[in-house]
Amino acid sequence: MLDDRVLDVRAATVRYAPGRPAVDGADLRLTCGRVTALLGPSGSGKSSLLRAIAGLEKLDGGEIRFENRVWSGPGIHLAPEQRRCGVVFQDYALFPHLSALNNTAFGLRGGDRGTRRAKALERLKSVELEPRAHAFPHQLSGGEQQRVALARALAPDPDVVLMDEPFSGLDRRLRGELRETTARALRDSDAATLLVTHDAEEALALADTIALMSQGRIIQTGAPDAVYLRPASLTAARLLGEVEAFEAVAESGRALTVLGEAPASGFEDGARVCVLARPETIEVRRADAQGAPAVITGRRPGAGQQRLICQLEDGREISARTALTAPHRPGDAVRLALDPDNTHVIPAEAG
Ligand code: ADP
Ligand code: MG
Repeated sequence: MLDDRVLDVRAATVRYAPGRPAVDGADLRLTCGRVTALLGPSGSGKSSLLRAIAGLEKLDGGEIRFENRVWSGPGIHLAPEQRRCGVVFQDYALFPHLSALNNTAFGLRGGDRGTRRAKALERLKSVELEPRAHAFPHQLSGGEQQRVALARALAPDPDVVLMDEPFSGLDRRLRGELRETTARALRDSDAATLLVTHDAEEALALADTIALMSQGRIIQTGAPDAVYLRPASLTAARLLGEVEAFEAVAESGRALTVLGEAPASGFEDGARVCVLARPETIEVRRADAQGAPAVITGRRPGAGQQRLICQLEDGREISARTALTAPHRPGDAVRLALDPDNTHVIPAEAG
């Protein structure tokens, strides 16, 4: 769409010390009305990139612009308050001496006090916190503090909202509930949102787009299911969860692995490839069926699924996930096979 309002990050570099920069030529595009999750391991540069967008770090190279206005670039650095950008920090950074309402109203400019209060109250309502408007941060639970921080970031109607691991300090059940409230408030706001997380499940659950970060670079961007099922590299694949990788050689548009064939169209005959399969797509069949003979050596029950460790005859262990109710148990002889519709083949050098 031509009239999408976007924040564009091009070849952004942030360097704190000699050696490899913390952000190393990162490209990222955030679209208004959409949530982009920035997913990467600890130390990959996520917070540094977020801080550069907020104007809290200067760029050592590259450019950040919102629509036609350059926020950061050669010789240009707009101060944080000149960027229409709301930030939710990992520790929320609420003002301890201000009520939830006054924390929320803090960034509002213009209008009289009554108008600002009304606006702040409306934002607290959007995160279901109106009844706690007069409580101070120390009187609020972790989840409530997180929502005040979100209301404060959204109150001035920013163009861009940046959230740094906003759910990391909260327990699992609360995280699930807060995700829903947060997603609703963000989608209503029409801001371009960047949600920084190291939790793949969170990224998959919340985001319209996932950007994968590794060693200061954005290594893949796409819709959640596309990135999960068609990772561009083994590194990208592992950021989103467990994956099995099989080396193979392409021949007539197919790649033959120990677990059977995968379609490999687009690869020349003789090309070395890497066939990727998620554990839930590996078929665990009866011992008299077709497939690679294996023995189940381990089983871990989970929510609705069980993770099976299966040992092939050459000793290699393969992880498979089947329904929790499936009859697989350690010691069982089985056959393993790829589901050709759910494999993804990448060049060997990307593995
Ligand atoms: P992430 O948020 O993905 O965990 P960070 O952006 O916090 O990653 O850190 C990326 C790298 O930059 C790390 O090696 C970290 O130690 C370093 N780093 C982050 N902030 C600073 C800083 N203020 N001064 C020096 N080095 C920093
Ligand atoms: Mg961080």
